[in-house]
Amino acid sequence: MKIIFFGPPGSGKGTQAKLIANELSISHLSTGDILRDKLDEDDKFSLKLKEIMSSGDLVSDDLLNKIITEKLNSKDCLDGFILDGYPRTLPQADYFKSFIKANKINLDYVFDFKIDFKEITSRILKRSSLEKRSDDNINVIKKRLDKYIKETYPVSESFRITFSSIYNVIEACKEISEIQKDLMKIIKKSWEIGQNSYIKAWLMCVN
Ligand code: AMP
Repeated sequence: MKIIFFGPPGSGKGTQAKLIANELSISHLSTGDILRDKLDEDDKFSLKLKEIMSSGDLVSDDLLNKIITEKLNSKDCLDGFILDGYPRTLPQADYFKSFIKANKINLDYVFDFKIDFKEITSRILKRSSLEKRSDDNINVIKKRLDKYIKETYPVSESFRITFSSIYNVIEACKEISEIQKDLMKIIKKSWEIGQNSYIKAWLMCVN
Protein backbone atom coordinates (compact mmCIF):
# COMPACT_ATOMS: atom_id res chain seq x y z
CA MET A 1 0.00 0.00 0.00
CA LYS A 2 1.49 3.33 -1.09
CA ILE A 3 -0.01 6.43 0.42
CA ILE A 4 0.69 10.18 0.55
CA PHE A 5 -0.54 12.50 3.30
CA PHE A 6 -0.83 16.22 2.64
CA GLY A 7 -1.87 18.84 5.18
CA PRO A 8 -0.63 21.94 6.96
CA PRO A 9 1.67 21.67 10.00
CA GLY A 10 -0.44 20.82 13.05
CA SER A 11 -3.21 19.13 11.04
CA GLY A 12 -2.48 15.82 12.79
CA LYS A 13 -1.23 14.04 9.68
CA GLY A 14 1.92 12.84 11.48
CA THR A 15 -0.13 11.24 14.26
CA GLN A 16 -2.43 9.56 11.74
CA ALA A 17 0.46 8.49 9.51
CA LYS A 18 1.99 6.67 12.49
CA LEU A 19 -1.31 4.97 13.42
CA ILE A 20 -2.22 3.91 9.87
CA ALA A 21 1.32 2.75 9.00
CA ASN A 22 1.22 0.60 12.13
CA GLU A 23 -2.22 -0.78 11.27
CA LEU A 24 -1.17 -1.64 7.69
CA SER A 25 2.39 -2.75 8.66
CA ILE A 26 4.03 -0.37 6.21
CA SER A 27 6.79 2.25 6.60
CA HIS A 28 6.03 5.71 7.92
CA LEU A 29 8.32 8.14 6.08
CA SER A 30 8.15 11.44 7.93
CA THR A 31 10.71 13.79 6.38
CA GLY A 32 10.44 16.04 9.46
CA ASP A 33 11.40 13.09 11.73
CA ILE A 34 14.20 11.98 9.37
CA LEU A 35 15.66 15.50 9.41
CA ARG A 36 15.23 15.89 13.18
CA ASP A 37 17.26 12.67 13.64
CA LYS A 38 20.13 14.38 11.81
CA LEU A 39 20.17 17.31 14.26
CA ASP A 40 21.85 15.33 17.04
CA GLU A 41 25.26 15.38 15.42
CA ASP A 42 27.54 18.25 16.31
CA ASP A 43 28.84 19.15 12.84
CA LYS A 44 28.42 22.14 10.51
CA PHE A 45 25.68 20.41 8.50
CA SER A 46 23.51 19.75 11.59
CA LEU A 47 23.97 23.31 12.80
CA LYS A 48 22.86 24.68 9.43
CA LEU A 49 19.91 22.26 9.38
CA LYS A 50 18.91 23.31 12.90
CA GLU A 51 19.01 26.97 11.87
CA ILE A 52 16.75 26.37 8.84
CA MET A 53 14.25 24.14 10.64
CA SER A 54 13.92 26.22 13.78
CA SER A 55 13.19 29.32 11.70
CA GLY A 56 10.33 27.59 9.86
CA ASP A 57 12.11 27.61 6.51
CA LEU A 58 12.23 24.65 4.16
CA VAL A 59 15.32 22.50 3.67
CA SER A 60 16.72 22.23 0.11
CA ASP A 61 14.84 20.21 -2.50
CA ASP A 62 18.03 18.35 -3.48
CA LEU A 63 18.57 17.03 0.04
CA LEU A 64 14.93 15.97 0.40
CA ASN A 65 14.85 14.27 -3.01
CA LYS A 66 18.03 12.37 -2.09
CA ILE A 67 16.64 11.27 1.30
CA ILE A 68 13.38 10.05 -0.22
CA THR A 69 15.07 8.26 -3.13
CA GLU A 70 17.25 6.32 -0.67
CA LYS A 71 14.27 5.45 1.51
CA LEU A 72 11.99 4.37 -1.35
CA ASN A 73 14.76 2.21 -2.80
CA SER A 74 15.40 0.53 0.54
CA LYS A 75 13.85 -2.76 1.63
CA ASP A 76 11.93 -0.93 4.38
CA CYS A 77 9.48 0.19 1.71
CA LEU A 78 8.97 -3.14 -0.05
CA ASP A 79 5.53 -3.61 1.54
CA GLY A 80 4.55 0.01 1.05
CA PHE A 81 4.83 3.41 2.72
CA ILE A 82 3.07 6.50 3.94
CA LEU A 83 4.80 9.69 2.86
CA ASP A 84 4.30 12.38 5.50
CA GLY A 85 5.83 15.78 4.68
CA TYR A 86 7.04 15.09 1.15
CA PRO A 87 6.67 16.33 -1.57
CA ARG A 88 6.39 19.82 -0.13
CA THR A 89 7.38 22.04 -3.06
CA LEU A 90 6.60 21.93 -6.80
CA PRO A 91 10.20 20.93 -7.72
CA GLN A 92 9.97 18.03 -5.20
CA ALA A 93 6.59 17.07 -6.71
CA ASP A 94 8.05 17.03 -10.23
CA TYR A 95 10.98 14.93 -9.06
CA PHE A 96 8.71 12.51 -7.19
CA LYS A 97 6.26 12.10 -10.08
CA SER A 98 9.15 11.26 -12.46
CA PHE A 99 10.66 8.91 -9.88
CA ILE A 100 7.47 6.87 -9.41
CA LYS A 101 6.87 6.77 -13.16
CA ALA A 102 10.41 5.55 -13.87
CA ASN A 103 10.19 2.95 -11.10
CA LYS A 104 6.63 1.84 -11.96
CA ILE A 105 5.36 2.70 -8.48
CA ASN A 106 1.57 3.02 -8.33
CA LEU A 107 0.14 5.16 -5.56
CA ASP A 108 -2.96 3.77 -3.82
CA TYR A 109 -4.20 6.86 -1.96
CA VAL A 110 -3.61 10.56 -1.56
CA PHE A 111 -5.14 11.98 1.64
CA ASP A 112 -5.38 15.74 2.06
CA PHE A 113 -5.97 16.91 5.65
CA LYS A 114 -8.12 20.06 5.79
CA ILE A 115 -8.37 22.18 8.94
CA ASP A 116 -9.04 25.75 10.05
CA PHE A 117 -5.80 27.74 10.56
CA LYS A 118 -6.96 29.11 13.97
CA GLU A 119 -7.33 25.54 15.27
CA ILE A 120 -3.84 24.76 13.96
CA THR A 121 -2.21 27.59 15.90
CA SER A 122 -3.66 26.41 19.20
CA ARG A 123 -2.76 22.78 18.43
CA ILE A 124 0.87 23.63 17.60
CA LEU A 125 1.24 25.74 20.74
CA LYS A 126 -0.09 22.82 22.82
CA ARG A 127 2.37 20.46 21.08
CA SER A 128 5.26 22.86 21.73
CA SER A 129 4.79 22.57 25.49
CA LEU A 130 4.58 18.77 25.28
CA GLU A 131 7.31 17.92 22.75
CA LYS A 132 9.59 20.98 23.05
CA ARG A 133 10.05 21.33 19.28
CA SER A 134 12.08 24.46 18.54
CA ASP A 135 9.90 25.24 15.50
CA ASP A 136 6.63 25.21 17.49
CA ASN A 137 6.44 28.78 18.78
CA ILE A 138 4.08 31.55 17.75
CA ASN A 139 6.69 33.45 15.70
CA VAL A 140 7.58 30.41 13.66
CA ILE A 141 4.03 29.07 13.23
CA LYS A 142 3.05 31.97 10.98
CA LYS A 143 6.07 31.38 8.75
CA ARG A 144 5.40 27.63 8.53
CA LEU A 145 1.75 28.21 7.61
CA ASP A 146 2.84 30.82 5.08
CA LYS A 147 5.30 28.33 3.56
CA TYR A 148 2.50 25.76 3.43
CA ILE A 149 0.15 28.11 1.57
CA LYS A 150 2.80 29.29 -0.91
CA GLU A 151 4.81 26.10 -1.46
CA THR A 152 2.81 23.02 -0.43
CA TYR A 153 -0.81 23.90 -1.17
CA PRO A 154 0.00 24.10 -4.93
CA VAL A 155 1.55 20.62 -4.63
CA SER A 156 -1.59 19.13 -3.05
CA GLU A 157 -3.67 20.83 -5.77
CA SER A 158 -1.50 19.30 -8.48
CA PHE A 159 -1.91 15.85 -6.88
CA ARG A 160 -5.69 16.41 -6.61
CA ILE A 161 -5.74 16.84 -10.38
CA THR A 162 -3.14 14.23 -11.42
CA PHE A 163 -4.41 11.55 -9.01
CA SER A 164 -8.11 12.49 -8.92
CA SER A 165 -9.36 8.89 -8.62
CA ILE A 166 -7.36 8.20 -5.44
CA TYR A 167 -7.48 11.72 -3.92
CA ASN A 168 -9.50 12.06 -0.67
CA VAL A 169 -10.13 15.02 1.62
CA ILE A 170 -9.91 14.30 5.35
CA GLU A 171 -11.74 16.51 7.88
CA ALA A 172 -8.82 17.01 10.28
CA CYS A 173 -10.70 18.98 12.97
CA LYS A 174 -12.24 15.76 14.31
CA GLU A 175 -10.95 13.64 17.21
CA ILE A 176 -7.88 11.44 16.53
CA SER A 177 -9.91 8.19 16.72
CA GLU A 178 -12.60 9.58 14.38
CA ILE A 179 -10.02 10.59 11.76
CA GLN A 180 -8.37 7.19 12.02
CA LYS A 181 -11.78 5.55 11.42
CA ASP A 182 -12.43 7.82 8.41
CA LEU A 183 -9.08 6.87 6.88
CA MET A 184 -9.51 3.14 7.47
CA LYS A 185 -13.06 3.24 6.09
CA ILE A 186 -11.79 4.63 2.77
CA ILE A 187 -8.87 2.20 2.65
CA LYS A 188 -11.01 -0.86 3.50
CA LYS A 189 -13.82 0.14 1.15
CA SER A 190 -11.68 0.27 -1.96
CA TRP A 191 -9.76 -2.80 -0.84
CA GLU A 192 -13.09 -4.68 -0.68
CA ILE A 193 -14.08 -3.34 -4.12
CA GLY A 194 -10.70 -4.59 -5.39
CA GLN A 195 -11.31 -7.97 -3.77
CA ASN A 196 -14.82 -8.16 -5.28
CA SER A 197 -13.59 -7.49 -8.78
CA TYR A 198 -10.86 -10.06 -8.23
CA ILE A 199 -13.47 -12.64 -7.10
CA LYS A 200 -15.76 -11.72 -10.05
CA ALA A 201 -12.86 -12.13 -12.51
CA TRP A 202 -11.97 -15.45 -10.89
CA LEU A 203 -15.59 -16.69 -11.11
CA MET A 204 -15.72 -15.73 -14.80
CA CYS A 205 -12.57 -17.78 -15.41
CA VAL A 206 -13.82 -20.91 -13.67
CA ASN A 207 -17.30 -20.82 -15.28
P1 AMP B 1 7.50 18.61 9.83
O1 AMP B 1 7.81 17.76 10.99
O2 AMP B 1 6.95 17.83 8.66
O3 AMP B 1 6.63 19.79 10.17
O4 AMP B 1 8.90 19.21 9.30
C1 AMP B 1 9.72 20.01 10.14
C2 AMP B 1 10.65 20.84 9.30
O5 AMP B 1 11.50 19.96 8.51
C3 AMP B 1 9.99 21.75 8.26
O6 AMP B 1 9.55 22.96 8.80
C4 AMP B 1 11.15 21.93 7.27
O7 AMP B 1 12.12 22.82 7.78
C5 AMP B 1 11.77 20.54 7.25
N1 AMP B 1 11.16 19.68 6.20
C6 AMP B 1 10.44 18.55 6.38
N2 AMP B 1 10.06 18.01 5.22
C7 AMP B 1 10.53 18.84 4.25
C8 AMP B 1 10.44 18.85 2.82
N3 AMP B 1 9.79 17.89 2.16
N4 AMP B 1 11.05 19.86 2.17
C9 AMP B 1 11.73 20.82 2.82
N5 AMP B 1 11.84 20.89 4.16
C10 AMP B 1 11.25 19.90 4.88
